[in-house]
Order: sequence, then structure tokens, then C-alpha cells
Amino acid sequence: MSRKVILITGGSRGIGAATAQLAATQGYAVCISYLGNRAAADEVVQAILNAGGEAIAVQADVSSQEDVVRLFGAVDQSLGDIDALVNNAGILEHQMRVEDMDAGRLARVFATNVTGSFLCAREAVRRMSTARGGRGGSIVNLSSIAAKLGAPNEYVDYAASKAAIDAMTIGLAKEVAAEGIRVNAVRPGVIYTEIHASGGEPGRVDRVKEAVPMKRGGDAIEVANAVLWLLSDQASYTTGSFIDVAGGR
Ligand code: NAP
Repeated sequence: MSRKVILITGGSRGIGAATAQLAATQGYAVCISYLGNRAAADEVVQAILNAGGEAIAVQADVSSQEDVVRLFGAVDQSLGDIDALVNNAGILEHQMRVEDMDAGRLARVFATNVTGSFLCAREAVRRMSTARGGRGGSIVNLSSIAAKLGAPNEYVDYAASKAAIDAMTIGLAKEVAAEGIRVNAVRPGVIYTEIHASGGEPGRVDRVKEAVPMKRGGDAIEVANAVLWLLSDQASYTTGSFIDVAGGR
């Protein structure tokens, strides 16, 4: 069997890094993208290479059309035809109420989380669609359980951006279903990664875990497992679907 090629945006840390390493163990040739943390990206690539896998890292801001086009060009050139895309790169900003949010913050959050996912999905569909000469493929978007809960008093903007990702997942799945492409999403709950530090509260998972029915935070690998299942042929009749990896929340 020929190897499959996967692009994981924001694969330098957290859920993206765990997904990249798991994908490599399943035989994927991996491209991770990152925004600025080159050392973290290099570490993920090195771990995959050390284990006998194939991996590259490319710096690219997913909210920049130019960068996204360059990123996909790098995958074409270095790894070959893309089979799988994980729209994982995502941000949130300091916890605050909606009444305190300004336009700059809203633009940044929506540019990375929504525009970035759309641009990457666009480039993937252009390559994967059987209507365009491609051989099909699979896309998984990282949404959040916040899309259903709304994240009041923390980041309603982030929650709304993830609700946009849910709508995009449903619509794009239907748009390309007959062209060999499946589109699904995972909604993580509170997962131990550095994203909570960006919200101003590195210890957030431990604060909120009592509100999780399972009474604990999740690990990045628990999310990665769901992502890899959705990408796999085992999910061959699954599209426009969601897996909540949120401990029952
Ligand atoms: P994280 O630890 O903060 O890592 C974020 C990753 O995204 C890093 O690799 C970062 O690159 C990259 N990134 C950020 N902005 C980018 C941009 N504009 N262009 C390209 N890459 C960018 O995040 P995480 O917790 O693993 O979250 C991953 C995804 O899961 C996100 O979409 C997040 O919303 C979602 N999620 C997370 C949780 C959770 O509790 N952790 C819950 C629900 C959903 P650098 O390393 O270069 O900065």
C-alpha cells in the first residue's frame, strides 16, 4: 500500500502535535505547519524521523491566503498528493465578557479559526476532488465543545468561531460528498495544552474539571485518536459528522 500524505495545521504543539505523531505511527507522511514556534515544530518532526517516519514542518500563518497557498505548494513538492487535512490551528484570547471585546480581537480570532480553516479546506478540495482530477480525501476540523456551550464570561467570540466551523463542516461535507471527500469535525472539551495560557489561565483545565461529568481534563492523544479514526477508511460512510471528545460535557 502506498503511503498517505497528511497536513496538520498548528502541528507544533498540543493537539496538533499529538495528531502528527499518531498519524506518523499509522504510516502517514506528515506535514505540520506552525505560526512562530519553530523549535517546537522541529521537535515534533525530529520525534517522527527518529521513529522512522517521514515529516516536514512549514511556517505559515493560516489566516494569510498567500501563506496557505505556499504551505500547500510545499506539501505538493515535498510529500506529493495530499490525502488528509486536519484544520487544527486555532487561537483564543484573554478571558473577557463580550461587552469588553474590540474589533481587533474579533478579527484576529475569526481570521485564524474561521478564515484559516476555509482557506486550507479550499486548497485541499482543489487537490482532492475527483471532479478536479483528484483521488478524494478526508478533512477533519477542530471545533470545540464551546460551540455548543458558548463559553460565557471567557470567550464567546472563540465559541462563535467554532460554531462557524460546525456550519462549515456540515455545508462543505454536503458540497463535496459526491467528489470523494469526507469532511468531519471533532469537538474537544477541556484538554491539557498551552492554549489555556493564551486565555490568561494556564491552570484552567484543573479549575473547570469538576464541571466535567468524567471529573477530569482530557489529553491531546485522546483527541488525536478521534481525528485519526475520522480520517481513516473505518469512517468510510461518515461525513458531516461530529465526535465530542469532552468527557461527557
Ligand atoms: P495550542 O496548544 O495553543 O497550539 C496551537 C497551535 O496552532 C500551535 O501549533 C500554533 O503554532 C498554531 N497556530 C496558532 N495560530 C496559528 C496561525 N495563525 N497559523 C498557523 N498556526 C497557528 O492549541 P491546542 O489546545 O492544541 O488546540 C488545537 C485546536 O483544538 C484549536 O483549534 C483549538 O481551538 C481546539 N480546541 C482545543 C481545546 C483545548 O482544551 N486545548 C478545546 C477545544 C478545542 P505555534 O506553535 O507556532 O504558536
